[in-house]
Amino acid sequence: MSSNIVTRFAPSPTGLLHLGNVRTALLNWLYARKHGGRFLLRFEDTDQDRSEQEYVDAIQADLCWLGLDWDEDVLFQSEHASSHSKALKKLAEQGLAYRCFCSETQLNLDRKLATSRGLPPRYTGHCLHLSSSESERRAATEPFVWRLRVHADDGEVVVTDALRGNVSFALRDLDDPVVVRSDGSFTFLLPNAVDDALDGITHTLRGDDHLTNSAYQAWLLERLGYTPPVYLHHGLLLGPDGAKLSKRSGSHSVAELRNEGLLPGALIQAMGRLGHPNIPETAHDAAALAAHFKAEHISTSSIRWSDEEMWRWHTRLIHELNIETLAPMIQPYVLSGSSDSMLKFAALIGKNIERASDAAHYQRLLDTHAPLGDDALAVLQEAGASFYQQALDAWQSLAEPDWKSWTVVVKENTGCKGRNLFMPLRVALSGALHGPEMSAVVAFLGKNGVIARVEDAYLACIKQQEIS
Ligand code: GLU
Ligand code: ZN
Repeated sequence: MSSNIVTRFAPSPTGLLHLGNVRTALLNWLYARKHGGRFLLRFEDTDQDRSEQEYVDAIQADLCWLGLDWDEDVLFQSEHASSHSKALKKLAEQGLAYRCFCSETQLNLDRKLATSRGLPPRYTGHCLHLSSSESERRAATEPFVWRLRVHADDGEVVVTDALRGNVSFALRDLDDPVVVRSDGSFTFLLPNAVDDALDGITHTLRGDDHLTNSAYQAWLLERLGYTPPVYLHHGLLLGPDGAKLSKRSGSHSVAELRNEGLLPGALIQAMGRLGHPNIPETAHDAAALAAHFKAEHISTSSIRWSDEEMWRWHTRLIHELNIETLAPMIQPYVLSGSSDSMLKFAALIGKNIERASDAAHYQRLLDTHAPLGDDALAVLQEAGASFYQQALDAWQSLAEPDWKSWTVVVKENTGCKGRNLFMPLRVALSGALHGPEMSAVVAFLGKNGVIARVEDAYLACIKQQEIS
């Protein structure tokens, strides 16, 4: 299935990818993939002072890690610089863009005055009627910005929004926005819109903080003879405190999450399912998400982001990993053994960990003398040295000992049962109070492995008795 739909992700390379950007990138990716269209990556790098190659590289690496692959070569806004100038020229020739020489001080005063009169702080139109000869003359010696002549008493501009339908803006409510700063650089509005037209973008999905920008952009695209894309403005993500999710309100960079060991699929699942309760829990990869994705389910109101939900997905996905993938992930958190024993270890504890680092709780399965935590020591002490002595005797009395036959004998000899029987044995063997099935633990450790750990538990009890 292929279509003419083209979406894009258009980050400014001025920082790392954060959760909010991931949402926008993912929605554009899902929209394109769902409809058999193309998804483009465009770096909006016209702010030369703040754009860094480092971020161009990091953002691409993060998108790859997340599996959000783009079609065709990466686009750079700076490569279209001459088109941006041409577009401005064209607007200026029609009297739709003009130079403004007002100083920052003047503009601030005007805004204050407007506010004190209960009016919106809009541009006063002071430079609107300068003749072109005067404008040229002053431009030779005075600093100026370029503005679009949008504000008007009558008329409206309509933004086509896939979720909200046609959103109209009265021109009298809009301002004359600055499109070129006094240093000659373009602001976001014009290059972003012109590039969407030049890149053939049919659908622009972005946060609803851009809704008013879209009005200006639809206005200018129409006047340049382009058809604006269909916009889809999604509600913003909120942090746990209900404030807009930002670096300050606890948003994470993708790099941070990767360093914490998060599986990329967990972020994709948690993010892609926002507003999509219809997606079956069994559809666990991005392609499956795309198949179930419905743009009309994207929320126009803001939604709260939950780290817990993401980590819950992480745990689910960890449990679905094959052992060959899991083993090297847990390796850094435990004593390194042979790769064969790591595979067996991963197979044993894989379903009992939520994160790779949890493997450290089961260190004793690999190392007889791994130090025990306080909870574990308390269990040992409660059972006492004689319990372990009897457990050891029982094990050695059996020709082919396994968990079942062993516990039958220990129960008979000690009179312990239930938790008092199983817990001291579990802790002695695995070092943890919870974990894999004991018959699997016993099979993993083998005869000598069990003996060594029960002996160690016995000695630990003796030592404790001597101290107290
Ligand atoms: N460079 C803009 C940003 O990062 C792009 C916004 C858009 O998607 O149009 O906010
Ligand atoms: Zn002015």
